[in-house]
Amino acid sequence: MSVKNPQTREWQDLSRDHHLAPFSDYKQLKEKGPRIITKAKGVHLWDSEGNKILDGMAGLWCVAVGYGREELAEAAASQMRELPYYNLFFQTAHPPALELARAITEVAPAGMSHVFFTGSGSEGNDTNLRMVRHYWALKGKPQKQVIIGRVNGYHGSTVAGAALGGMSGMHEQGGTLPGIVHIAQPYWFGEGGDMTPDAFGVWAAEQLEKKILEVGEDNVAAFIAEPIQGAGGVIIPPETYWPKIKEILAKYEILFIADEVICGFGRTGQWFGTDYYGLKPDLMTIAKGLTSGYIPMGGVIVRDEVAAVLSEGGDFNHGFTYSGHPVAAAVALENLRILRDEKIIERVQAETAPYLQKRLRELNDHPLVGEVRGLGMLGAIELVKDKATRTRYESKGVGMICRQFCFDNGLIMRAVGDTMIIAPPLVITCEEIDELVEKARKCLDLTLEALK
Ligand SMILES: *Cc1c(COP(=O)(O)O)cnc(C)c1O
Repeated sequence: MSVKNPQTREWQDLSRDHHLAPFSDYKQLKEKGPRIITKAKGVHLWDSEGNKILDGMAGLWCVAVGYGREELAEAAASQMRELPYYNLFFQTAHPPALELARAITEVAPAGMSHVFFTGSGSEGNDTNLRMVRHYWALKGKPQKQVIIGRVNGYHGSTVAGAALGGMSGMHEQGGTLPGIVHIAQPYWFGEGGDMTPDAFGVWAAEQLEKKILEVGEDNVAAFIAEPIQGAGGVIIPPETYWPKIKEILAKYEILFIADEVICGFGRTGQWFGTDYYGLKPDLMTIAKGLTSGYIPMGGVIVRDEVAAVLSEGGDFNHGFTYSGHPVAAAVALENLRILRDEKIIERVQAETAPYLQKRLRELNDHPLVGEVRGLGMLGAIELVKDKATRTRYESKGVGMICRQFCFDNGLIMRAVGDTMIIAPPLVITCEEIDELVEKARKCLDLTLEALK
């Protein structure tokens, strides 16, 4: 790749000589060098070549309030001056973590009034694994150890995160643990076959009951799922799915962990995905939108009944140096204040999400598009060779071709196989949505052209 700015080449050399990147094809990265992002404002990024790019992914689903919010920088700086670090271990605490715990539970579903803090979503799911097993041991049922996850779910990249998730590429690289099993995902477009979406939704939910009976209720600790699968390809379950799952969960004595790392803090137009679907989780994993990604932080919101058992249980031998880090907590508090005071989630629900969904669906008429689906500030575009039969192109990598055209034309859309996905900042305006959809259509045209 030729560059205009000589510094771009210098940074790319640093990448090749010194950096091991997360989730990247190393061989390809070495040959091409990374795109260097140097600044951002609102919903736009700039790269080191001076290109302005609309960030259709809010970073990695996290920059809810948009880039460049002075208040968040200010919150971090003043907290660093006051108390840059202290821990929450061994009977101590500090105001930012405690005030944040209260602020989170004020917007969390009723009956979930305790928070355990971590440094990331992955650490949140590690915490879940240990917390639910500890809970059942305290309840006198230590044999309840097994956690049921879903194929193509994403729960992070620590060992527990990878094992709870259902990504085979991660399992193959040391990402498995005993005592974790998986059931089918509710991905109608890809796996629904001849079933109607509704029939398929019921079938996929019934796999949970089948698995509980197979493993034995007495051995199952919990079921973990994202309300909407994000990294798996913005998979919005058929309408029958969650009601059926709720019915099954009510029948058996197992805990339900909702991984809200993407859906939480407004992405669906409600505070949490479980609010949108009317679910009743026992634990909820949070991260990403909690701080709008300005600083790392995650956690687990815990239902009162579970917290009550833990509080009688003596030592919980678990925690992180940066659990509830004061600077991260101060930024999260300010981020929640912005979301609340500026009524950002209300605006998503009333105005910008309906507009995004309406405009995205206009792409349904494109010859390359098999399905457009979306909800709130989430969207997916399935790329196919034949719409009627939902047949993909044989040559793999149509999504990658499209992603490259997007990059080159000032739009970030992510590719999951041949599914293009978006999750823009929650503050995106209707005019910026027009820009996003027009650029997306242009890139679909270019992709179709390239396939001929
Ligand atoms: C990103 C993500 C995680 C992992 O969060 P990290 O902060 O990257 O560890 C977990 N679950 C879901 C649903 C995610 O999207």
